[in-house]
Amino acid sequence: MLEIKGFIETSFLDWDGKVVSTLYVAGCNFRCPFCHNAGLIEKPHEYETIPLKKIEGFLLERKDFLDGICLTGGEPCLHKKRGLFEFLQRVKDLGFQVKFDSNGLDPECLHRLIGQNLVDYIAMDIKGPLDERYDKLSGVKTDLSKVKQSIKLIMESGLDYEFRTTVVPTLLSPEDVVDIAKELKGARKFVLQQFAPAHTWDEALRTIKPYDREVLDEMVKPCQPYVKNILIRGA
Ligand code: SF4
Repeated sequence: MLEIKGFIETSFLDWDGKVVSTLYVAGCNFRCPFCHNAGLIEKPHEYETIPLKKIEGFLLERKDFLDGICLTGGEPCLHKKRGLFEFLQRVKDLGFQVKFDSNGLDPECLHRLIGQNLVDYIAMDIKGPLDERYDKLSGVKTDLSKVKQSIKLIMESGLDYEFRTTVVPTLLSPEDVVDIAKELKGARKFVLQQFAPAHTWDEALRTIKPYDREVLDEMVKPCQPYVKNILIRGA
């Protein structure tokens, strides 16, 4: 059975234009130095598991108000043998839409989610340019072929989606961001997420000042030959 370790009852921020309940699962196969959920990844036992019945009851009580759920983490695909598909099927059967957040390291999982119509929107993190620079951002030796497979799969899925990158000064330059956009050529949406230094996994990043909004704005134009629709979030 899927273990939900965090539950935001009502969120207006996690899916543009939708009202959702946001659910967190524990564990991740990345170790991004800018991650804010280190506790959930390293010490999941310190978080209470929220009974699925309770979540289901909440969703049903607010069915008129909620569009659906956002399943995030951690990395939800790590739970594919621990009730992930069954849980999402239940949510869909109840009539809710599903936004699914992923780091894209498990294209087989995404393929099954798409094939079984268990997701309506996928938000995939692109940590950095898809070359030797990636590992610095993901914090692990990353199988980029998997990441590339997931990008292709999502772009060809027919679903609504976004690719998103947290733009961390010292780890990503404006040129790096353009290199990411090149890899996403033809994508529907590329989101530049503002870096938030509070609570980062790597304490050294907590003193790093985020890029000014103007600097983020300047990153947009050079990316647009590759992805027209570029959003800045959180700045
Ligand atoms: S992929 Fe997401 S949850 Fe996993 S370490 Fe990176 S930021 Fe944290």
